[in-house]
Amino acid sequence: MLSTYQYPKFDYVRPPELDEGRDGHYPVVIVGAGPVGLCTAIDLARQGRQVLLLDNDDTVSIGSRGVCYAKRTLEVLDRLGCGEEMVQKGVSWNVGRTFFREDEVFNFNLCPEPDHHRPGMINLQQYYLEDYLVQRARKLPNLEMRFRNSVIAVTPGEDQASLRVETPDGTYTLTTDWLVVADGARSPIRTMLGLDIDGKIFMDRFLIADVVMKADFPTERWFWFDPPFHPNQSVLLHRQADNVFRIDFQLGWQADPEHEKKPENVIPRIQAMIGDDREFELEWVSVYTFQCRRMNRFNHGRVLFVGDSAHQVSPFGARGANSG
Ligand SMILES: Cc1cc2nc3c(=O)[nH]c(=O)nc-3n(C[C@H](O)[C@H](O)[C@H](O)COP(=O)(O)OP(=O)(O)OC[C@H]3O[C@@H](n4cnc5c(N)ncnc54)[C@H](O)[C@@H]3O)c2cc1C
Repeated sequence: MLSTYQYPKFDYVRPPELDEGRDGHYPVVIVGAGPVGLCTAIDLARQGRQVLLLDNDDTVSIGSRGVCYAKRTLEVLDRLGCGEEMVQKGVSWNVGRTFFREDEVFNFNLCPEPDHHRPGMINLQQYYLEDYLVQRARKLPNLEMRFRNSVIAVTPGEDQASLRVETPDGTYTLTTDWLVVADGARSPIRTMLGLDIDGKIFMDRFLIADVVMKADFPTERWFWFDPPFHPNQSVLLHRQADNVFRIDFQLGWQADPEHEKKPENVIPRIQAMIGDDREFELEWVSVYTFQCRRMNRFNHGRVLFVGDSAHQVSPFGARGANSG
């Protein structure tokens, strides 16, 4: 439960294949209704393709994930027909500042020239991004979305792929000319097909506190190395929609995630940063680690891997959804 956003619940509709007694065939099936699967589905449908999008869940991304979307991504979202609502809801920014202890040591402006249609970045919680994409997808008659449809097996063939799909009413089989796999970093389909992804785990932990507060901080990205309120580590601050601030504290690899997530341990860290007098409410707290990994090949015959299933990067630099 969030105080600023209510997660939608997308309807599950019984797939016709369960009753028709025959396998369905679609020119393109996309697995995963995250940012990358949704954008791919909308882009193909806009070009007149018949698209089926399957997702094992019935809502948008839960908790604290993507925040920053770049100008190039906004241009793509404009082309898809949903850039404007993202920009209206999101927080636009161009300036980033980096501090060492108490001194500003570096700054940048992502959009130094006037008159660009879109800002250098917007900050928008990932659940809003996905929500707007689902709303956009619903307006395309040749794009069918099926929620609570989980792909449990994939058989690649010479000129098509076959999928086994599990629903609350039972399982069915589909064939497709092209299977686009956008099932995220853990990619069950990559595992099913026994495909490798190479890279490394970054040996560090980060605490994310999404905090609701009214603050007059400028709409800029601030990053500290070794600040007095969190010595020897880094801290990142971003304003998002609905007065939610993303604060990201580096913790070190030895930190105990369960201990660090407890409000009694999170609140003093935030108070040390913003002062004892400022009122705030915790919206979401999590601890994450990250990996940088990439498949050697993204295309395997009629099966194409996209987004986090194919390549994962550090959240710093806001590249996961943007590059996907
Ligand atoms: C803390 C944090 C901060 C981040 N900040 C940013 C940022 O500022 N900017 C940015 O661009 N990126 C950011 N990212 C990265 C971003 O969240 C991911 O790169 C992005 O979500 C990847 O999108 P995707 O569509 O590839 O996969 P996902 O979003 O993971 O979506 C995968 C979908 O596939 C579905 N699925 C999985 N298995 C199956 C199955 N078997 N059958 C059917 N459906 C299935 C899942 O339910 C899910 O809906 C951040 C990530 C984190 C953790």
